[in-house]
Amino acid sequence: MGVQGYLLDLDGTVYLGEKLIPGADRAVAELRRRGRRIVFLSNKPLHSRAR
Ligand SMILES: [Mg+2]
Repeated sequence: MGVQGYLLDLDGTVYLGEKLIPGADRAVAELRRRGRRIVFLSNKPLHSRAR
């Protein structure tokens, strides 16, 4: 059984400040296309989940 899912940090991995890190959206989409589950994590409690 291979990797089934990923835990991804958000700030500095998916975005930096207010900007998307180039390619992060495509990487996430590709992993999902391959059926991998992704859970996003953050240790930066400045915003709610709704944002
Ligand atoms: Mg980070």
